Amino acid sequence: MPSSVMPMSKLGDGRQSPTALAATGLRKSYGDKTVLDGIDLNIPAGSVFALLGPNGAGKTTAVKILSTLITADGGRAEVAGHDLAADAQAVRAAIGVTGQFSAVDGLITGEENMLLMADLHHLSKREGRRVAAELLERFDLTEAAKKPAATYSGGMKRRLDIAMTLVGSPRIIFLDEPTTGLDPRSRHSMWGIIRELVTGGVTVFLTTQYLEEADELADRIAVLHDGRIAAEGSAEELKRIVPGGHVRLRFTDPAAYRSAASALHGATRDDDALALQLPSDGSQRALRSVLDRLDSAGIEADELTVHTPDLDDVFFALTGGTDIPHQPNQPEETVR
Ligand code: ADP
Repeated sequence: MPSSVMPMSKLGDGRQSPTALAATGLRKSYGDKTVLDGIDLNIPAGSVFALLGPNGAGKTTAVKILSTLITADGGRAEVAGHDLAADAQAVRAAIGVTGQFSAVDGLITGEENMLLMADLHHLSKREGRRVAAELLERFDLTEAAKKPAATYSGGMKRRLDIAMTLVGSPRIIFLDEPTTGLDPRSRHSMWGIIRELVTGGVTVFLTTQYLEEADELADRIAVLHDGRIAAEGSAEELKRIVPGGHVRLRFTDPAAYRSAASALHGATRDDDALALQLPSDGSQRALRSVLDRLDSAGIEADELTVHTPDLDDVFFALTGGTDIPHQPNQPEETVR
């Protein structure tokens, strides 16, 4: 197959898009430890793909294989239409990688790092200066451009790392845990940068331990567990595979609690907390039905909480509740 012809993938909304990355049966072991045990991936061009898993799950290993830094023990992959094993050079020309093995040199300035990158990509001196200035501006680094990169904050270093990657105009960018260790503000600014990259037509392969991050950014999410993809889909699809949606009603008056328990069939009782829990999809219609039943029994709850399944629930269901990644915010709504 000529390298310019790429197979097609289906986007979440059913439209077709060229495939940016396809892998089948990727395997990797270190000694007798199997890190990747047969990974299949299919990523449409122009989308954000998140590989989600806790520390040590094998995310970096997958990125290293797909970006040609190490070789797999088995399986095959095509990246930007080029076979990983047969045409690693062409793959390298089409991708950019940032992350734990960052290319930023702390001893030289941000601008010098950028110019070095421009040299590596054989840009002329003039073009190199133009591209460097433009990217430093875009990533809000113009003011810090003449300072050694070692003096930059974590967020600035990551922005510089991405700016350096973009000098080569990659079509696919691997971002290995782009926000691990960043404060919430820098994390949000990084999310903005990632969204902009995709708007510009780049495909983003992201690894993260943050459920919230995958939920925010990714068109498709794959959950890596025990060396395999335990589930894959959009955040909505993944949330649909777990139960866990419920409405919780709390009472202060024991008599009201008892009446509600008999009015609402199928509710799980928590007698100590005077709380009832009902399975529910959290829709307006379902909530109205619960409230109507309470109204016609003349009962008023003191607190009503809607819990819609989130990626936490998915992760619990898939991994048996162990190794749950850190989730900064619980998307739970309480109506009083
Ligand atoms: P993650 O990025 O999800 O945190 P990694 O891919 O870095 O996970 O690591 C997965 C597992 O592989 C870990 O148990 C790690 O210790 C092991 N591992 C990674 N690289 C090597 C290596 N070069 N030699 C031996 N073991 C390794």
